[in-house]
Amino acid sequence: MLIVAKRLQSIFHAGLNMLLPPRCPSCRVRIEENGHICAECWATLSLIADPKCKVCGLPFTHEQEDLTCGACLAAPPSYDRAIAPVLYEDKGRDLVLGLKHGRLFSAALAMARLMAGHLSRSLTEEKNCLLVPVPLHPTRLIARRFNQSQLVAEALSDQMNLPMNALALRRKRATPSQGGFKKAGRLKNVSGAFEVAEQHQPAIEDKTILLVDDVLTTGATASACAVALKKAGAGKIIVAAFARVGGPLSG
Ligand SMILES: [Zn+2]
Ligand SMILES: [Zn+2]
Repeated sequence: MLIVAKRLQSIFHAGLNMLLPPRCPSCRVRIEENGHICAECWATLSLIADPKCKVCGLPFTHEQEDLTCGACLAAPPSYDRAIAPVLYEDKGRDLVLGLKHGRLFSAALAMARLMAGHLSRSLTEEKNCLLVPVPLHPTRLIARRFNQSQLVAEALSDQMNLPMNALALRRKRATPSQGGFKKAGRLKNVSGAFEVAEQHQPAIEDKTILLVDDVLTTGATASACAVALKKAGAGKIIVAAFARVGGPLSG
């Protein structure tokens, strides 16, 4: 029965590929299979490599003894660690914007593939992991019709074979877009904006939460989510973002 279902699925995908040939979600050139990016776009992604801050994930320009950046030492975020494969620039930014504003849904799969590789290498010690996407407020969800972070989390759940709970964390008040604020303003804007509904607390308790977001900017939203998740009994919060805003730190 399973073999028949798989055969039907591959016939369906072959038919779909003929009707809608797979294209690179960044530059739209034809590619072999959906959920990937073309070799040219891949080559121009700004991949984040070591050394980097062991808390917020920003890369350093050179090796150094203390792998915690000045900002994380001065004001440690409420999450435990953030992991992102690329910097938010060039092709990385194209993928994020293509998904969010261009509805290029195959970008979510391509982003999740890149994230899965980084996360698997970084999370070898972690047990009881649960994927939780950063939620949108219901009014924004109705306007956009989808939550890009949830699409990425769903693809990650398939890639990494990890459970996902998209209902546990919710935005209890709508907040103005973070784009118009500097770091302190962003923190204030989203402070107390998230909560875990009581009926979902058992699903969160003692779990290592992989908080999925498309972009990590100042970390204000991730920190506000982390506060709510920890209040609900989560063990550890690891921010799993696709792209990280900010250039390399000189140490
Ligand atoms: Zn491309
Ligand atoms: Zn840092």
